[in-house]
Amino acid sequence: MNPRTEVSLPLELGRLLPSTSPTRWREAVLRAGQLLAPGWAVAPVPATPGALALVLYAVSADTATTPEQVTLAEVTALLDAAPDLDQEPATTRLLIHHALESGGHPIGDRTHPASRTAARLLHRDEPLDIPLALGGGVAGPSALRYALPRLRALLAGLTEEQLSGLPSVEPIPVEASAHVTGAVKIVTSDSWLPLGCPVCRRAEGATVAVDGDLATFTCRKRHTTTDHQLGARHVHTALTRTSPGGKPVRGDLYVVHPDQPADADPRQLCVWLRAPVGALY
Ligand SMILES: [Zn+2]
Repeated sequence: MNPRTEVSLPLELGRLLPSTSPTRWREAVLRAGQLLAPGWAVAPVPATPGALALVLYAVSADTATTPEQVTLAEVTALLDAAPDLDQEPATTRLLIHHALESGGHPIGDRTHPASRTAARLLHRDEPLDIPLALGGGVAGPSALRYALPRLRALLAGLTEEQLSGLPSVEPIPVEASAHVTGAVKIVTSDSWLPLGCPVCRRAEGATVAVDGDLATFTCRKRHTTTDHQLGARHVHTALTRTSPGGKPVRGDLYVVHPDQPADADPRQLCVWLRAPVGALY
């Protein structure tokens, strides 16, 4: 199989839809799936469903319509808008900001899936403290900037007439949880660190769960927290590998740090887990 086709659109939609999703966001994600399905086999780009859902969500909020009523012309006008001096999609970025703020859940509000998706896609790494003339001073590119031209290409084959007849795409729910008898350890290439409860500091005996794009850690005293080191994709991968069917994890659960690829194997990624010291010499 061509590895490019292995990114599942129903699964990508499920990753955007926690079970508590508000109606407009759910409609935006489902509509994004419909619009992307015809071209998905040719260009399965994981960032595009979230980007299109955000665009549909923002336009429908701005025009007081539903995501399904947003026209192809309204979407492509945004995608074709001139970028700013950093080549960032400023018009789309502003519209998303405005829609989220006027809806009462601005970026940074981690209780709303549209705000969380926007935080991921609009984030830019801080610029290095180096003068512009020496190559510094510019923030890193956003995932939205990467996604929009690809979205434009995916939608290029669609006509306005086709929009009403597109079949729906059923998302694959992303829900899993498991009790971990040991610690939940966040793994990078050269380290690992147990996650602790921010209230009682307990690390062992917690339950980790993923619901769409939200990963949670519940300590044995039932304090539930979301931690920036718990990526939903990464927790889902760890639970799928380690705890099929929600079986308790005996010992530690290794979860790859969100800066690393979600499908990385922690035992290959981390120098400490790769081989016992005795085997190296
Ligand atoms: Zn606790």
